[in-house]
Amino acid sequence: MGAVGQVYLVGAGPGDPELLTVKAVRLLSRADVVVYDRLVSEQVLALVPDGVSRIYVGKASGKHVLPQDEINAMVANLALAGHEVVRLKGGDPFVFGRGAEEALYLKARGVPFQVVPGITAAVACAAYAGIPVTHRGLASGVQLVAGHCRGETPLELDWHALADPALTLVFYMGLANLDQIRAGLLAAGRPASTPTAVVANGTLCNQQRVLTTLGGVTQAVCAAAIEAPAVVIIGEVVSLAESLDWYQPATPAVVAARGAVSVNAATAAGVRAGGELAHTRGARAGRRAG
Ligand code: SAH
Repeated sequence: MGAVGQVYLVGAGPGDPELLTVKAVRLLSRADVVVYDRLVSEQVLALVPDGVSRIYVGKASGKHVLPQDEINAMVANLALAGHEVVRLKGGDPFVFGRGAEEALYLKARGVPFQVVPGITAAVACAAYAGIPVTHRGLASGVQLVAGHCRGETPLELDWHALADPALTLVFYMGLANLDQIRAGLLAAGRPASTPTAVVANGTLCNQQRVLTTLGGVTQAVCAAAIEAPAVVIIGEVVSLAESLDWYQPATPAVVAARGAVSVNAATAAGVRAGGELAHTRGARAGRRAG
């Protein structure tokens, strides 16, 4: 048998391809095969060069294209056959991504692997919704919480701990259990007036942001017809969202033209700023254009 390949467990970030790490882009450009999940955006997949094999193993809620143990075996076998495999997962592979399960499987079979972190949905969606997950005087900590558990069983969470008013909570996979989350937190004493945001398709052109309160969240999500993927952000930091609302989703035409736009912006900034910065930026813009 020839040399064993390697598996890279790579975080694809939340969707906007410009949020990929430089390492992720480099690995995608030289992989033999990319094995990817449902939450990897089309824009990120567009960066995979023609000629690199792509294998979709994604899961729609409750409906697995491939069971996890078959995914594990497939990824390991590709590497054992000598391929360089990018195992691409939405967000960060080690945040609710089952990346560690895959890594343990590879470890047990002697397949070399590396982990490339990605920007997880909590911080990316919060940032693109104008919400800092911590802020002096508003939140001294943040907790990432799975808002879903196997089957139809009720969530088993320490509601009392989650009711701490100094904590920002970010629920992943929480839409289906939103009313349970609301009721659990209210019963544990988190005030109904606690500012709450729901961000769907965060960082993408079709990002939706709903600002509401803990007491009103279920109704607000119904009224806005929010659909997964979405994160629910609960805590005083959400009160900053109106003031810090910076994100203007780009239309596809602007995205396509982004290269040209950044060169023009850099040149204009250089003319205004003058001096060394202008020179540096001008030079960079020139290099890009050339
Ligand atoms: N590993 C991923 C999380 C996978 S769990 C990460 O680190 O981000 C899937 C959940 O992530 C979804 O149900 C949703 O709650 C959240 N999510 C992922 N991408 C998202 C996006 N672009 N917008 C909103 N929520 C997202």
